[in-house]
Amino acid sequence: MKIQILSEEMASRIAAGEVVERPASVVKELVENSLDAGATEISVWIEKSGTLLIRVTDNGEGMAPEDLALSVDRHSTSKLKEKDDLFHIATLGFRGEALPSIGSVSKTEILSRPHDAPTGHQVRVEGGRKYDVQPAAASFGTTVEIREIFFNTPARRKFLKSPATELSHICDVINRMALAYPKVHFRLHHDGRNVADYAAATAGKDRLQQVLGRDIASRLIPFAWSHGEVAVNGYLSAAPTSFPNTRYLYTFVNRRYVRDKVLTHAVLHGYETLLMKGQYPAVVLFLEIPFSDVDVNVHPAKYEVRFRRQGDVHEAVVNAVRQALKVEAKEPSPHTEWPVSTPFAGVRERSFPYASTVGVTGDGSVRRAAVFSVPVQAAAKQEGFFSSMTILGQIFGCYLVCLSSQGLVLIDQHAAHERIAFEKLRQQLDAGAVEKQNLLIPQMVELSAGESSLLEQKLASLERFGFVLEPFGPATYAITAAPALLAEGDYAQVVREMIAELAEVDKSEKLRQHLEERFATIACHSVIRANRKLENQEMRALLNELDQVEFATQCPHGRPVLLEFSRDDLDRRFKRIV
Ligand code: ADP
Ligand code: MG
Repeated sequence: MKIQILSEEMASRIAAGEVVERPASVVKELVENSLDAGATEISVWIEKSGTLLIRVTDNGEGMAPEDLALSVDRHSTSKLKEKDDLFHIATLGFRGEALPSIGSVSKTEILSRPHDAPTGHQVRVEGGRKYDVQPAAASFGTTVEIREIFFNTPARRKFLKSPATELSHICDVINRMALAYPKVHFRLHHDGRNVADYAAATAGKDRLQQVLGRDIASRLIPFAWSHGEVAVNGYLSAAPTSFPNTRYLYTFVNRRYVRDKVLTHAVLHGYETLLMKGQYPAVVLFLEIPFSDVDVNVHPAKYEVRFRRQGDVHEAVVNAVRQALKVEAKEPSPHTEWPVSTPFAGVRERSFPYASTVGVTGDGSVRRAAVFSVPVQAAAKQEGFFSSMTILGQIFGCYLVCLSSQGLVLIDQHAAHERIAFEKLRQQLDAGAVEKQNLLIPQMVELSAGESSLLEQKLASLERFGFVLEPFGPATYAITAAPALLAEGDYAQVVREMIAELAEVDKSEKLRQHLEERFATIACHSVIRANRKLENQEMRALLNELDQVEFATQCPHGRPVLLEFSRDDLDRRFKRIV
C-alpha cells in the first residue's frame, strides 16, 4: 500500500504552512481572535520583528480551562456551532486552525482568565506537542505568547524577508484592523519601543488620523450609501489628491480586510476619468452585506472572498464612489485641505467648484437614480461657479483668464472642452440614446470573417452607442453615422476596438466602460485643440457649459481644468504677507 494517512502532527504542520506564512500572519490570527472575543484593548508586543517573540494581550471574554485545552487542538472552534453556520460567518475566525497551526511551528503559551473566573490557567504547546493545562495567575482576558516561530521548520525561516520588511507587514496588519475597529485601543511595541498607540476613537476621523496620518486624513471625505441589504461607507479622497500606487486603498467586507479584484476594480472605476493614468486615490471602504451573501472560506489567510452577487456588489461600490465624488464636487467639505505639492508654490489646483447649476446629471438615468440613497441636488436657479466668473480674456490661444469671487482663475480651454464633450456623451450613453450624425463620406472598416459575423449580431447594440454600420461587400462595412459629439475622428478604429471588446465579453457594462475610455480619448482628440482664439461669447458658453456637467474640475484624463490664485496666494507671492 502506498497511501498513508498523515499523522496529526504532519497534518498540522502542512496546514500551518498555509495559515502561518510569516510573523505578520501570526499577529493577524491572534488579533482576530482577540477581536472575536470582544476585546476593547489589544496590545501587541514583538521582539526582533516577531521572529523571537510575539505576545498579544487582550481584555476579551477569555477561556475557561476546558476551552483552553481544546483551543490548541485542530478544528476546534467556538465560532461554528451548527452546520449551516459556515454559510453566514459573522466572526473573523471560524476554522479552528490558527492556534494549532501556530503551535506546531513555535513555542506557544496561552494564558487566559474569563471575567467570572477566580483565577487563570495556562496551556503550552511546543512544536505541536501539547502540555497539560495548569492554573496560573492572570488578569482578565487572554495573553498568547509565541516564541521562536519556525524554530522547527528551518525552510520557512529562510523565506523570511529582512527584519524591516517583516515589521512593516506587522504594522500593515495592525493598521488594517485598527481602521475596521476604531473603538478598540491598539498598541504595538517592537523591541520595547512604542510603534503605535491608537486610543479608542471617539470622533469619525480620529482613527484615520492615527493610522494614515494627519495630512492624508484631512483630505478624506466621508461617504455613505445604501440600497436594500447592501451598504457602502467610509472615506475617500477627491481629485486632485492622488498617489502613485494603491497603498492607501483599503477595502473591507463586513469589517474584514480583503484584497478583492471586484472591489478594487469598482473603486477605481468610480474614479475613472478623474485621476491621471498611474495615479490612485486614498480610499477606506467598508462594504456591509448579509453574511450569507459572501463566502469568506476561500483563502487560507481569509484575504479573499467570493460574492454571491458579484455584479450587484460591483455596481453598489461604483455608485457609492461616484455619488460621493459628485456630492463633493457640489458641496465642498470645509475640512478638505489642498494638496501640499503643486507645480508652483502658492498655486493650487482647485478641486471643487462651489455651487453649480445642474439639470440633468451624468448619472441621471432612471436605472441609476433609483438606487441612489443620497438624492442628487435639485437644479437650483443660482449662478454656477463657472458662469458667475468675469472673463478677463484669453492668453496663448489656450487659457482663459477669469475672475471668481475667490480670486484669479486660469482655465485650460482644451481640458474644459474635453470634460464637457465627455460628460455629454456619458449622459447620452446613460439615457441609452447617443445622438447620431450622418457622415457625408462613410468610413470603411474591413474585418476578418470572425469579426464580421460577430458584428452582424451586434449591429443594434453598436447603434445604441451611436454608430450605424451597413454591409459593404464581403467582410467590409461602411460607417454611415457616428456619435454627433465625437466631431471628426477615426471611427473605423473605434468600431474595431468595440468589436474586439464584444468578442471578449458580452456584458454591456464592460462595453460601456470601454466606450467611456475611448470617448475620453476621442473627446481629447476631437475637441478644440489648444491655440485657437475664442470669441467672447464662445468663452461665456464654455463657462456656462462647465456648470452643466459633472466633474468639471478635471479633464477625462484627470488633468486639472483650472488653477486658482486667491488674494492670499498673490499677496504671498508678492511677499506682502508671509
Ligand atoms: P478560530 O478563531 O477559527 O475559532 P483559533 O484556532 O484561532 O480558531 O482559535 C480557537 C478557539 O480558541 C476560538 O474559537 C476561541 O474560542 C478560542 N480563542 C482563541 N483566542 C482567544 C482569545 N484571545 N480570547 C478568547 N478566546 C480565544
Ligand atoms: Mg482565530
